[in-house]
Amino acid sequence: MPTPDKVAADARARLDDTIADLVRYLTFPSISCQPDNFADVRRLAEVIRDDLTKTGLENARLLELEGALPVVVADWLHAGPDAPTLLIYGHLDIQPVELENWHTDPHVAKIEDGRLYARGSADDMGGWISHMAAISSWLRVNGTLPCNVRVLIEGEEEIGSPNLERFMDTYPEAFDADVMVLTDCENPSVDVPGLTVSLRGLMEVELHCEALGADAHSGLWGGIIPDPALALCKVISRLVDEEGRLIPGRRPVTDKMRAAAAEVPLPDKTIRDGAHLLDGVDPLPEHGDPAGVWMWRQPAITILSTTLPAPGREKNAIRKSASAKLSVRLAPDQTADEMLSALRGAIFDRPAPAGVNLRLDVIDAHGGGWLYEPKGPAFAAADRAYVKSWGRPLVQVGIGGSIPFVALFGRRFGDLPLILNGVLDPLSTAHGPNESMHLGIFEKAIAANVYLLDELGKMGKAALAR
Ligand SMILES: [Zn+2]
Repeated sequence: MPTPDKVAADARARLDDTIADLVRYLTFPSISCQPDNFADVRRLAEVIRDDLTKTGLENARLLELEGALPVVVADWLHAGPDAPTLLIYGHLDIQPVELENWHTDPHVAKIEDGRLYARGSADDMGGWISHMAAISSWLRVNGTLPCNVRVLIEGEEEIGSPNLERFMDTYPEAFDADVMVLTDCENPSVDVPGLTVSLRGLMEVELHCEALGADAHSGLWGGIIPDPALALCKVISRLVDEEGRLIPGRRPVTDKMRAAAAEVPLPDKTIRDGAHLLDGVDPLPEHGDPAGVWMWRQPAITILSTTLPAPGREKNAIRKSASAKLSVRLAPDQTADEMLSALRGAIFDRPAPAGVNLRLDVIDAHGGGWLYEPKGPAFAAADRAYVKSWGRPLVQVGIGGSIPFVALFGRRFGDLPLILNGVLDPLSTAHGPNESMHLGIFEKAIAANVYLLDELGKMGKAALAR
C-alpha cells in the first residue's frame, strides 16, 4: 500500500480517538466576546499547545500581545529547504450560546444521526482538528511529514480578529509560509467539498431627511406640506427595484459567475426552510441568475433602523425630520468608496421630493470583501487530494457575509495560494442553536488533509509559486 493510503487508513482507524479529543476541547466555553470566559479561552489554548507537542509538532507555544487573547502556534520544519511550508489557520474561540434554544447542553458534545452537536463543533474546532489528525497519522506511520507545516490557532476570530494584524506584525515568522489553508468555511453538501473564493464586504450608512423647523399638526397641515418620513421612504425606494434589490452598484454578471453559482443550486425549499419564509411569500425571482450570483456576487441593502417613534410613542404629527440606518453588503470586488458614490448618485442626482433636505452619512465603511482567483499548482494539488478523499474536486463557492480574518489574509498574503475551506455544511447552524458537524464530512476532511500534505510535498516549493 502506498504510504499516503497507509496514513489515511491510520487516520480512519483512529477516528474515535480524534473525536474524543474534539469532544474534550468542546467542553471549554471558550467564548471570546464574554470577559467572564477569557480564562476558558486561555486554558483551552494551553491544553491545545500541550497536545500539539504530544502529536509530534515542535515549538508549540502561545503568542501573546497586550490586550489580546493568545494565539497557539507550533511547527514541524524538517521536510527540507526545497519542500514547501504549509500554514494551517483555525480558531479555538466560540460564539456564545442561547440556552433556551438548544436541545442538548451546548458544551457537552452529543452524537446523533451522524452529526456531532456542540457549540464550536463545526465552527471551528472540527476544522483545524481535521488537520491535526492528518499530521498525527503522518508522524505515527511515516515518522516525518511530506512538507513543512506551521499551525496557527487564533482565540479572537469570533470577535472579528481585532488583533490578528498586530500578531502578523509582531510575529512574522509564525506566518512565514508558501501556501496557506484557512479552515473556517462551508461545503455545499455532505457530498460536495467547497472552496470559498469570495466574500461580500459590508458598510453602514445613515440617510437623513429634514423638511420642517418643528413637528407640524397632521390635521392642520397634512396634504399640503411634505412629510419627511414619507420622503425618506420614497428616497430609499428609489435605491431598489420592484423586488427590493439594490440598483446602485449592481455588478455585470459574467457567464463564469453564472456557471460557478449553477454548480451549487439553492432549491426554493432550502431557501424557504433556511430563511423561514411564511406561506405565500416567495423567494425573489432569479431572472436567469442562480441564487449564488445574487447571494455572493451582487450588493444588497437592508434597513436596520429608523428614527420613527416606536409603537406607543407616536403622535398625530408630521415629524420635522426622519433618518434610516442602512446596511449594504458589497460585491466582493467593490470598495466602500465605490458603493458610496453609487448611492450618492442615486440619491442626489435627481430632485428630492418637494425639495426636502437629504444627507447621507457613512457610519462604518470597512468594506472587507474578498475575491480570489484560485489558479496554479497548489489548487490542482488540493483537487487531487479531494478526489482521493471525497471522490470529486473542490467546487468554488462564495459567502454572502464578511469574515474579517479572510480579508486580512487576502490583503497581507494574497500572492500566496490561499485554500479556504472547512467542515461546515448548510445544516451546521454555526452561531445558532444546536450547532453541529457532519461526521462523514469530518472523516473525509481528515483524509483530504492527509493527501494534501502528500501532494504539496511531492510538488516542491519552486513549483508551488503561482
Ligand atoms: Zn469560525
